[in-house]
Amino acid sequence: MSMNCPHCGQISTTRTSKPVSLISKETWYQCRNLECGHTFVAVTEVVRTLSPSARPNPLVRLPISRPATRR
Ligand SMILES: [Zn+2]
Repeated sequence: MSMNCPHCGQISTTRTSKPVSLISKETWYQCRNLECGHTFVAVTEVVRTLSPSARPNPLVRLPISRPATRR
């Protein structure tokens, strides 16, 4: 997984990641632009459910997303 560097906009490479909780993780990124050299940490978090799990973990509580409206 990659992410754009917030300073120069170039693609950054994942170096490592670790879980922070049941629904979030921190990921370390390194910018591919050698003239930039930015390294940074981002958080990825599960924010809502689209379709409920068939094996729900009772410790995980997420809001259920409303169905998308179709036109
Ligand atoms: Zn950069």
